[in-house]
Amino acid sequence: MDVKRFDVIVIGGGHAGCEAAAAAARVGATTLLLTQKRETIGAMSCNPAIGGLAKGTLVREVDALDGLMGRIADEAGIQFRVLNRSKGPAVRGPRAQQDRVLYRAAMQAALASQPNLTIREGTADDLALDTAGGEARPRLRGVVLGDGSLIPAPRVVLTTGTFLRGLIHIGERQIPAGRVGDAPATGLALTLEHLDFRLGRLKTGTPPRLDGRTIDWAGLEAQEGDVPPEPFSFLTGAIAREQVRCHITATGPVGHDLIRRNLARSPIYSGAIASRGPRYCPSIEDKVVRFAERSSHRIFLEPEGLDDHTVYPNGISTALPEEVQRALVATIPGLERAAVLRPGYAIEYDHVDPRELGPALETARVAGLYLAGQINGTTGYEEAAAQGIVAGINAARAAGGGAPFTLDRAEGYIGVLIDDLVTQGVSEPYRMFSSRAEYRLRLRPDNADRRLTGKGIEAGSVGGERARRFAAKSAALAQWEGRLDSLDATPDTLRRHGVPANRDGCRRTARELIGYPDVTLAQLAALWPGLAALDREIVRALENDAHYRGYVERQEADVAAFRRDEALRLPGDLRFDRVGGLSHEMRQRLAAAQPATLGAAGRVPGVTPAALTALLAHVRKIDSRGIAVRKSAAEAERR
Ligand code: FAD
Repeated sequence: MDVKRFDVIVIGGGHAGCEAAAAAARVGATTLLLTQKRETIGAMSCNPAIGGLAKGTLVREVDALDGLMGRIADEAGIQFRVLNRSKGPAVRGPRAQQDRVLYRAAMQAALASQPNLTIREGTADDLALDTAGGEARPRLRGVVLGDGSLIPAPRVVLTTGTFLRGLIHIGERQIPAGRVGDAPATGLALTLEHLDFRLGRLKTGTPPRLDGRTIDWAGLEAQEGDVPPEPFSFLTGAIAREQVRCHITATGPVGHDLIRRNLARSPIYSGAIASRGPRYCPSIEDKVVRFAERSSHRIFLEPEGLDDHTVYPNGISTALPEEVQRALVATIPGLERAAVLRPGYAIEYDHVDPRELGPALETARVAGLYLAGQINGTTGYEEAAAQGIVAGINAARAAGGGAPFTLDRAEGYIGVLIDDLVTQGVSEPYRMFSSRAEYRLRLRPDNADRRLTGKGIEAGSVGGERARRFAAKSAALAQWEGRLDSLDATPDTLRRHGVPANRDGCRRTARELIGYPDVTLAQLAALWPGLAALDREIVRALENDAHYRGYVERQEADVAAFRRDEALRLPGDLRFDRVGGLSHEMRQRLAAAQPATLGAAGRVPGVTPAALTALLAHVRKIDSRGIAVRKSAAEAERR
């Protein structure tokens, strides 16, 4: 391996690593993607699907910043469904079943064609640091490989997922691994430990895989995709690929009895695994114990690809011994004779306490070191991709001397995700939910481009093609908004044209009417024929904006107050033990979290409004003293 120097090295070819590497290269940094195995770049460790509730919004946001996940999922998607379609657009979740092989291939092709990006196979074993120079924290010099060689780079994005001291459990068996078939990363775990990073241990799990040719499909409920399928990416016109069906079955009392009898053999219950798993994605052992009153749990049988017979039984993640897994599968309707291709397993791994990071995902301990993805205690491909793109943009911007790129809680789910991580830390694998976002009516999947593409253009992460399309859409939208504002009619006129309207004597504009759930574009076009020319994407934007305008306007005051608190920065060297009026507990909580702003302090778990008032008073006092000192210094200079 030559010793070319890179601006940024991204370690790991998972969902965080792919986005980080592509983003850093798009921003203009010479970037190296270093990963254990080239062929596993873009691999999905668990379920073959992208998106879902809240996660689908993250994918749209990554796409709005010109990330890869949305476009790749459109290319490799084999069944598209918008979850919560019957509810409002703000809480809908685009989701697409993926062909695993196609997804990986499309991701690898996209990275291979990315200028500024080099891809190398290799295992990072250590980080080379510079501790001289009198700086408070060490600086990165590069990455040390297993053979002791050094690849120089001043910035590194670490995205090692479940690999840090990964340990697979299947019943009583334990296998050191990053995931099935891959070696764990032990050297880097030791590096982080020696650097005093706060590490924790979490677990996740995956179900057994089945041979679809041995499943009795007759009699199982089929689940079709949407017609037409709705793409993730703002750049995808239409989905051309054929769509497949999924099927639904369920566990039953016989299987539950079997699980209960074998609980002591599951590492999750035998005490072999002490770490916490994802609460919202529990193993079948957990479900049977926690929901003892339920006699069945649904299972979605999801095909893993068009030319692949492997089926992913979504809902029975397990770490029971292999023979118990086989016996359990045989108790499930349709799966009585199903062949298990690979057993399910649980995996434990180290993660870094994300409170070690700032909002740009750089660590406070080592200058130039960024962390993204499951290493930060999250779970899910989308959460990983969202952090990856932010870390990649920031590492590249720092290399070019640019200001950090951050998103706040009112700008995107990505902002919510990162803020939650860096201010609150994690006690279990963190998954995104719309309920975590205070301003979710603004943060819709349909308007992700309008919220973020402009910011991405400023940050340098958006390429020419997307920038052009975004400018054209923005201009068309502004033009149509003006036109719809200028068209209005009385209730009588509206009713004559079949548009429902109260007889209150008030004229209504076309811009208002388009947001009414019981008014169609065809009805409006009967009254104003010019509207027939409206493009589908523009109609959707106008409809959703009109639908939420009242709520969003009312929320503006909250957003303004939130931004005022965020703007109030706490001094980096603030001694919380010197803040008058704070209890010992509040001092401890704040000192542990080291919030950067008053807003962030308010989100530290357990911090009370009274503590915030005390903090605000203290900061104002320091500020006024600072002003007084600056004033007297200026006067002394004048004299
Ligand atoms: P990963 O996708 O894990 O990628 C890590 C990358 O780093 C790999 O390419 C690896 O080769 C590379 N790497 C590691 N160490 C080194 C090194 N030292 N040098 C070079 N390269 C290195 N998510 C869900 O949402 N729901 C689930 O039900 C779910 N179940 C899961 C079950 C299992 C068994 C596993 C393993 C994961 C599961 N996940 C689940 C999580 C999901 O797979 C991850 O959240 C997501 O893949 C994380 O992406 P990442 O990029 O952070 O890491």
